[in-house]
Amino acid sequence: MKIVLLGPPGAGKGTQAKQLALKLKLPHISTGDLLRKNVAEGSSLGKEASSFMNKGALVPDNLVNQMLALRLKDPDVKKGFILDGYPRNIQQAEELDNILKKLDLGIDAVVYLDTSDKVIIQRLSGRLVCKTCGANFHTTNMPPKVKGICDNCNGELYQRIDDKEETVKKRIEVYKKEVSSLIDYYAAKQKLHRLDADLDATVVLNKIIELSAAHNDSLKV
Ligand code: AMP
Repeated sequence: MKIVLLGPPGAGKGTQAKQLALKLKLPHISTGDLLRKNVAEGSSLGKEASSFMNKGALVPDNLVNQMLALRLKDPDVKKGFILDGYPRNIQQAEELDNILKKLDLGIDAVVYLDTSDKVIIQRLSGRLVCKTCGANFHTTNMPPKVKGICDNCNGELYQRIDDKEETVKKRIEVYKKEVSSLIDYYAAKQKLHRLDADLDATVVLNKIIELSAAHNDSLKV
């Protein structure tokens, strides 16, 4: 199963992708996570990317494309993947098709998680992320048992710099500029499935699993 999750920041792509990856036993590939890892490690890619990320702007295509192409060459990708945060524009969608073609792979389904601006801002401005394991919490929707501490690994929770309200607004603006062309691109290929991501996360997850099953006989019950 090769699934692409599309949607605005705060639509729950990361949360859904992590759950799906566990259930379907597939790697979760998030370009945001890969970039943040590079930033944390101080790599040359991380140094170039961080100024764009901190402003809520997209990192230039050539940097992200190279990083993704390398990751997609890893052997675990052969059985499938959940791609989260890529593509962000048409150039990236075309590049993804090129990379996958060279690897003799294709996309099975593109799931568009549709969310209202109100919900996005509420979700992101309260989001807390674990410094150690990357688990997500929320100050009101899903608070950790102990304030500031991850339930899973006792790591320290922090707010991403790009989750501050001003940067969130910029990220929504950047996203809206590009999304309609991506929707058209995948609709024309008959790969697009729209889901209402304002619904409860478990309901959304089950809907994604249902539609994945429709593309993959081995998942049918
Ligand atoms: P995310 O974790 O997907 O919200 O991504 C966080 C930030 O990483 C974005 O605001 C961008 O600055 C950068 N980023 C992640 N994925 C991409 C991508 N496919 N193209 C360009 N920039 C990206």
